Amino acid sequence: MDTERHALIEEYPAEPRPSRPLMIVVSAPSGAGKSTLCNRLVAEFPAIAYSVSCTTRAPRGEERDGVDYYFLTKKEFRERIRQGEFLEYAKVHGNFYGTLEDTVLFAMESGRHVLLDIDVQGARQLRESLARLEPRHPIRRGFMDIFIEPPSLQELERRLRGRGTDEEKVIRRRLENAQVEMEAAKDYRFRLVNDEIEQAYRELKAIVLDAMGLG
Ligand code: ADP
Ligand code: 5GP
Repeated sequence: MDTERHALIEEYPAEPRPSRPLMIVVSAPSGAGKSTLCNRLVAEFPAIAYSVSCTTRAPRGEERDGVDYYFLTKKEFRERIRQGEFLEYAKVHGNFYGTLEDTVLFAMESGRHVLLDIDVQGARQLRESLARLEPRHPIRRGFMDIFIEPPSLQELERRLRGRGTDEEKVIRRRLENAQVEMEAAKDYRFRLVNDEIEQAYRELKAIVLDAMGLG
């Protein structure tokens, strides 16, 4: 563990917990059940809002622009990179994804906790940039990260196929990436295994409620 990250962890319990909006970063290999768990959390706790990301991938199923993602062309995405609008961005499974700084700050300034569903590269970038922010910056004060693991790679494959939203080629790519993503789990402060869904949800809720000062 590097020193800067350690410093962030050490200062965390000393904060006046209930008064600060959280920036909850959640990552998982695709298919681990992150959306299932996070959707449930957001539905149960209106004080937690999803940060809507930008992506260059095509909408899937019922996904809507401005709700699930801001769907951008590659040109539009590049322009936002050029303007320095992203808090973080990364190429994931062949498409670009990124979090706009304005989106996160707007939610936090309105007093809501913000939940970021981002990949391991994005989480790494965030940790690096946090260490450069003022200690009292809302993003630095509110940061917490959670990694959701599948019980096994075999089960991950079963879930990806069972979801029925991705082509075979996309599934293969996501499974290959999963092995690399799992290696990043050790960098997250909180980790949970999504084996049995109710148990996993209880664990996720306990982690977040504790950070909200409601545990
Ligand atoms: P992610 O957002 O991590 O890509 P999803 O939430 O879409 O994953 O879940 C992938 C599939 O696995 C979905 O069909 C979902 O219903 C299913 N799933 C999620 N959690 C569990 C679980 N604990 N046990 C069995 N199936 C699950
Ligand atoms: P999906 O295509 O299944 O919606 O998402 C694929 C992956 O992209 C997931 O691991 C998800 O966490 C990640 N992702 C979604 N939005 C962002 C983002 O804004 N930044 C980064 N770095 N990853 C994201």
